Amino acid sequence: MSIDFFSNYTMSIDGAAAASAATFEAFNPATEEVIAAAPDASREQLEAAVAAAKRAFPAWSARPIAERQALVARIGDLIEAHAEDFMRLLTREQGKPRKGAEWEIFGSAIWCREIAKQELPVHISEESQTRRVETRREPLGVIAGITPWNFPVLLAIWKIAPALVAGNTMVLKPSPYTPLCTLKLGELVRELLPPGVLNIVSGGNELGVWMTTHSDIRKISFTGSTETGRKIMAAASGNIKRITLELGGNDPAIVLPDVDVKETAEKLFWAAFQNSAQFCVAAKRLYIHADIYDDLAAELVAYAKTVKVGDGSLQGTDLGPIQNRMQFEKLKNLLADAKTNGLRFLLGGDVTDAKGFFVPVTIIDNPPENSRVVAEEAFGPILPLLKFDDIDGVIARANDTEYGLAASVWGKDIKAARRVAERIDAGTVWVNEVHTFSPHVAFGGHKQSGLGIENALEGLAEYTNAKTLVVNAA
Ligand code: NAD
Repeated sequence: MSIDFFSNYTMSIDGAAAASAATFEAFNPATEEVIAAAPDASREQLEAAVAAAKRAFPAWSARPIAERQALVARIGDLIEAHAEDFMRLLTREQGKPRKGAEWEIFGSAIWCREIAKQELPVHISEESQTRRVETRREPLGVIAGITPWNFPVLLAIWKIAPALVAGNTMVLKPSPYTPLCTLKLGELVRELLPPGVLNIVSGGNELGVWMTTHSDIRKISFTGSTETGRKIMAAASGNIKRITLELGGNDPAIVLPDVDVKETAEKLFWAAFQNSAQFCVAAKRLYIHADIYDDLAAELVAYAKTVKVGDGSLQGTDLGPIQNRMQFEKLKNLLADAKTNGLRFLLGGDVTDAKGFFVPVTIIDNPPENSRVVAEEAFGPILPLLKFDDIDGVIARANDTEYGLAASVWGKDIKAARRVAERIDAGTVWVNEVHTFSPHVAFGGHKQSGLGIENALEGLAEYTNAKTLVVNAA
């Protein structure tokens, strides 16, 4: 199928294109230019999308799972077949450079194919000549997916693939900051899936509110900020919607004194700054043992100076801009606060007036634990380095947050590093690596970083109800 990725953005409702009287603008964050007009869904259009998903549910859920799996795998094939266009559009609307766009788009294709291999087993807890007790998993109905702007395609696929494989239908809304790739994804699968199985609607936050309060929607799968997650949790109570919430994080990285400083510095740099640190699991507080603090700080700064920040569409760019003005202003405010409070910058800190939402790689030297750059999730390239000299103390500091998304521990003595990792209260703790995800590995946040799991069979199960069948044949 031939699709023009760079114009004519429409929603997908009931298997057809849906334009809208109202539109909103999408920007290229590297140039601040308007790149497209995206449909701003009316309430009637959301109603039509939910009604279409509801109509499609009986037939879709009744289809053999093998057929649903095959179609979800085909979504992966279609993404891969259009990877070049997806990557170019992703860079244009999100800002990320080529390498990051490749990771996201090819990752999305892999996710579709791998999730398509998953199936939830029937659990038989008793089986005799006279009695059988089994628990099986049944789809929920219409699912609402709501996604953020940092990984718009991959995070949509993390929801679409398991929801559809499990037998649900869906209405998905991308972030108003990055609607374009998701709208094209909808267009791409219009002819592949039966009408109504996957509806893509775009609009502002109010559209999200309509979704979370809709009585025909049975579950919300949300990725975004903790603040919005809290609102969604409240809104979902109306008809006791199931919810999966993947929220914010303030991930600690703990660097033990026996690391190879130079080698680890480079890995830590990317742990913190990948995707210009607009990453829920970016290392956001870097705790470094006092014995190596100065050396590691120097290596990090030296490495950071080799990294090129710029327009993601230009060759040689390593880190792109901040995705939108709201986040850009937030980061400028955080930098101003750091300056007002006399924090010491080892690198960066100054935003220029040039076009584009560019924040330089900024590294701050051992700020107080209660400073905003430590306590808040920056969601941008501002990294505090923090000194420690006792393990119990650093673990307490690492855990002293309402977040609990992920963490990492770095050290040559694996047993010692593992002991530290086991004491961190987070959904994922990496030792000597970071940001490795798999469709077959559970991912989810502790504390206010979220509720529920994505990926693995646990993630698939979140798109189902358990149904226990007790049959007495005596
Ligand atoms: P956000 O919460 O502002 O918005 C996310 C989505 O929610 C958007 O589509 C938005 O339109 C919608 N929305 C906003 N208000 C709503 C409401 N009241 N009801 C329903 N929907 C509403 O988040 P963001 O700024 O787009 O994303 C950044 C945040 O996402 C960061 O905190 C980051 O850590 C988090 N994040 C978490 C994960 C994870 O897997 N845990 C992954 C990526 C990003």
